[in-house]
Amino acid sequence: MNLKNLSRKLIAEPGAKVRLSDLDPADTIGVKDEQEALKAVEKNRLKMEELQMLLHAENKRALLIVLQGMDASGKDGTIRHVMNGINPQGCEVTSFKVPSAEELDHDFLWRIHKAVPAKGDIGIFNRSHYEDILVVRVHNLVSKEVWSARPKQINRFERILSENDVKILKFFLHISKNEQKKRLQERMADPAKNWKMSLQDLKERELWKEYMEAYQDALTECGTECAPWFIIPADKKWFRNLAVSQIIIETLESFKMNYPKLNFDPQKIVVK
Ligand code: AMP
Ligand code: MG
Repeated sequence: MNLKNLSRKLIAEPGAKVRLSDLDPADTIGVKDEQEALKAVEKNRLKMEELQMLLHAENKRALLIVLQGMDASGKDGTIRHVMNGINPQGCEVTSFKVPSAEELDHDFLWRIHKAVPAKGDIGIFNRSHYEDILVVRVHNLVSKEVWSARPKQINRFERILSENDVKILKFFLHISKNEQKKRLQERMADPAKNWKMSLQDLKERELWKEYMEAYQDALTECGTECAPWFIIPADKKWFRNLAVSQIIIETLESFKMNYPKLNFDPQKIVVK
């Protein structure tokens, strides 16, 4: 199983037009063996623990992981499966909901900026500022003039973050409309899951086409070198977990981190 190619194959090439209908949500990019994938995710989980300690010790940069996708695309499941090895002390998950009255009285990035992780930390956004060009666009919550100016504003915002040592990885969990149907039906049938459902989810499903158009534009316009989008085929949960964990590990490894050197010789110190 050659995992090194995954990130190259799944990245939305900056500047290139994304066509979601050309991308198969059930693809596994040549990875065939589910059992092997599970083992690789477990291996990555252990590596992530070590790499997070280094990130924390170095205290030089932050990692921000953005998760977007339709209802039931697996945002919560990805957090549970991929991130479960990391130390909660150095990680914060922020779930962005319908903005409050106070949030609406500020610019759309105000609440986002406040949640950006500090140096040494990992931040996970379960939904994000992208909702402001997705749900907001699909439901005309602001005028076209306002939402269509946002992709450029987002790019500038993300550039400022990346120039200030925040490494940004954005994942779009790409599921098919059929897979969503299956998952929503399962949710409804299971009392341990149906609390997650809302009638609104069914209304959003009817707007699938409009959402895909909005996603396509967001992925095309906001896929940049400093904050790339990865389009993760997410119909198969095992592949989704493998792809996301692999890309995170490769990114952390690319930092080539080391534990800080002491400015004294610990051999010469006696603890009394
Ligand atoms: P959930 O992720 O299921 O908890 O749902 C959160 C809801 O908040 C989703 O329906 C989102 O579309 C909605 N939401 C998140 N951010 C915004 C935003 N900026 N404007 C409007 N709705 C939003
Ligand atoms: Mg929901």
